[in-house]
Amino acid sequence: MLLHLPVVTFKETPLHHCGIVGIYSHKKINVPKELFYPLFSLQHRGQESCGIAYHHSRGQLITYKDLGMVGNVLSHYLTETHSSYTGIGHVRYSTRGGNKLENAQPVLAVCNKGQIALAHNGNISNSMFLKNELIREGSILQSTSDTELILHYIAKSKRNDFTESLMETLERVEGAYSFVMIHNDTLIAARDPYGFRPLVIGEKSDMMEFASETCALDILGMNYTREVNPGEIILVNKYGKQSVALHKKDRRCQCIFELIYFARPDSILFGYPVHTIRKKMGGFLAHIDNLPGDIVCAVPDSGNSAALGYSESSGVGLEYGLTRNHYSGRTFIQPAPDMRESGVRMKLHPMKAVINGKRVILIDDSLVRGTTSRIIVKLIKEAGAKEVHLRLCAPEIKYPCFFGIDIPTKEELISNRMSPADIAHYIGADSVRFLPLEYLRQCVSNPEDFCFACFNGNYPFDVKDR
Ligand code: SF4
Repeated sequence: MLLHLPVVTFKETPLHHCGIVGIYSHKKINVPKELFYPLFSLQHRGQESCGIAYHHSRGQLITYKDLGMVGNVLSHYLTETHSSYTGIGHVRYSTRGGNKLENAQPVLAVCNKGQIALAHNGNISNSMFLKNELIREGSILQSTSDTELILHYIAKSKRNDFTESLMETLERVEGAYSFVMIHNDTLIAARDPYGFRPLVIGEKSDMMEFASETCALDILGMNYTREVNPGEIILVNKYGKQSVALHKKDRRCQCIFELIYFARPDSILFGYPVHTIRKKMGGFLAHIDNLPGDIVCAVPDSGNSAALGYSESSGVGLEYGLTRNHYSGRTFIQPAPDMRESGVRMKLHPMKAVINGKRVILIDDSLVRGTTSRIIVKLIKEAGAKEVHLRLCAPEIKYPCFFGIDIPTKEELISNRMSPADIAHYIGADSVRFLPLEYLRQCVSNPEDFCFACFNGNYPFDVKDR
């Protein structure tokens, strides 16, 4: 029997929302099995629940989902055969809505427009407004997640053509969304007009795939062709492929945190190889630092690429200072403060032989509340480090995110309460330094196409659900 206990990540980085996959094949394939592998590659984007939707042999859309990870919930599909043409899948980390089975995706609906299954990544930032409107008009909502809203508005639309109903719905929705949907036998992929969340396209012979990251294309041997453009809706069925566009916004707003932390380092996102960008971040940190250290160490895994960049740029050797126990899982670490330290100790182990007597430059991705970094610094000092200097690839996080990333309230963010010197004192480090925003912007060639709102508070539009 599977135990479904609260998921608490040991790291205190901002947490992500979801990963999505959609496949269409012109020849019949074993759809659930084909979905398993890309979902498995996107597990880092959400560990609380997962699910798929595909056509049953009699043409009906069915969904299978549960709380838990892909390997536990969906592995039975590896030995079963369910032949059809299209399917979608989802891994979920809950931000809005909580960790409940009724919020797991894909969401399935049968309405006046036919059968629809939807898997969504992001946050609809006017969802309270839309929910109130629906309730006032008599709708019954079954879940607390945003996804259901899209289905309600599609069903309510007076347009006869499904694509027009969908476009009418999406013109009302504000915020961040990338989604995959099945309507009858058509696979649909869409990205919000600001392009907050990624959505990439892969193709091979008779098959097409949409996914949150290119690592989910690679595992099926797909050739990465391009991203779904911001505001683009792509429909694929037996008649071919059609692309339609929503009203254009005056700018893009791609989430820079995808490159800092969320995405897998082997993915290409927003046109950038993630590992290369993280190395650049580490290189810039070294460039502004000029710190006499003996070794550079990463907080694994999210600090790995940046630590390499720091080491190459500074000439200080990269060492394997912390090992990570990949078997401790993410599902049973309790949120109580006294359990947090044992949770971190179960996950990270300092290499005494490497650290003892050294001035350690420790590279991590970002700092949210500071409580986990405090434990990590303690572990490294206990292992005999002479000094620990924490370096972060992100600027100071000072503002919440309304676009699908679980950043705590302004008051909880340590950088709103303390200076870097005070943070160093609080976490027991000898110094703390953040990558300045102007250097982070230089890591990409088109910074004006990115969102940096959690660092500078410049939201691209007036958010209704603040
Ligand atoms: S506010 Fe921060 S986390 Fe949210 S979309 Fe913008 S860059 Fe990403």
